[in-house]
Amino acid sequence: MKQGTPLPHRVHVLPWLRRPGSVMLRNWLAITIGRHILAWRDLEPRELRHELEHVRQWAEFGPAFAARYLRASFRAWRGGARWYHDNPYEVAARAAEDRPD
Ligand SMILES: [Zn+2]
Repeated sequence: MKQGTPLPHRVHVLPWLRRPGSVMLRNWLAITIGRHILAWRDLEPRELRHELEHVRQWAEFGPAFAARYLRASFRAWRGGARWYHDNPYEVAARAAEDRPD
């Protein structure tokens, strides 16, 4: 596959998700489950690139990605880092935000 070609995905904009998502994470915007990106508002291009990296991670690891992600967050937290910001899968997704299409 050509570098930068997004995997098949679908964005679902669900405004009612804003409040429940914010309970877990302040400034929460979107969550990606498999090829489905659930967001409470439309995504800017760089925000979409972030979520598409999560689509890629799901494609790489399959359903086991959910457990891998949680383990990575637990390890970060146990090591004194931030469970979300320092999760390696989030670090990779933030790096993807600046990648040109
Ligand atoms: Zn993310």
